[in-house]
Amino acid sequence: MTGPGINGPAAGEGPSGGMDRFTVDAQGWMRGVRHVPSPNYDARPPGAAIELIVVHSISLPAGRFGTEDVERLFTNRLDTAQPGYGDLAGLKVSAHLFIRRDGEVVQFVPFAARAWHAGVSRWQGRERVNDFSVGIELEGTDRGPFEDSQYRALIDVTRALAMVYPAVDSERLCGHSDIAPGRKTDPGPFFDWARYRAALAAASDPE
Ligand SMILES: [Zn+2]
Repeated sequence: MTGPGINGPAAGEGPSGGMDRFTVDAQGWMRGVRHVPSPNYDARPPGAAIELIVVHSISLPAGRFGTEDVERLFTNRLDTAQPGYGDLAGLKVSAHLFIRRDGEVVQFVPFAARAWHAGVSRWQGRERVNDFSVGIELEGTDRGPFEDSQYRALIDVTRALAMVYPAVDSERLCGHSDIAPGRKTDPGPFFDWARYRAALAAASDPE
């Protein structure tokens, strides 16, 4: 079940608690997070609904956490003349949300718009996954685990999204590697899908 049931009396007892800390306004901005508007988006196709959450991971420089460089990349302010960043020159990318290691959530693009996070992609036979998805980047790598604070934030923002976009449920969560196999590997083998799905399934249980 999704929709109103997700806000049932038991929902606040879910694994992460505090589910009301995030809400989504009419323009598709999440309240309770930091907003850093990115120019890297365009309109979703007419009639497109938000039906899927795509989980990514990223760190810049690779494997280093706590820098400002992901925010710079997503807002076209990264100095790509720095060593190691040559591949990023001219790239126009973004995500809707970025969750830092301490659980802080940053929003770059309103959910109503199409963020440029997935690239060439396919989900259940449908191309151009950016059209109908929300992209969430976790600060991290393929080579190590994510933080509890990141799971708590991810679960809470996903619950808030499911409240306003009822097609999103525990089955409509995937990784970038699932929709761009052979091209992308994130969020990688350390991401705990069972934990994420179970928390979402529990939240949407009408009992
Ligand atoms: Zn990705």
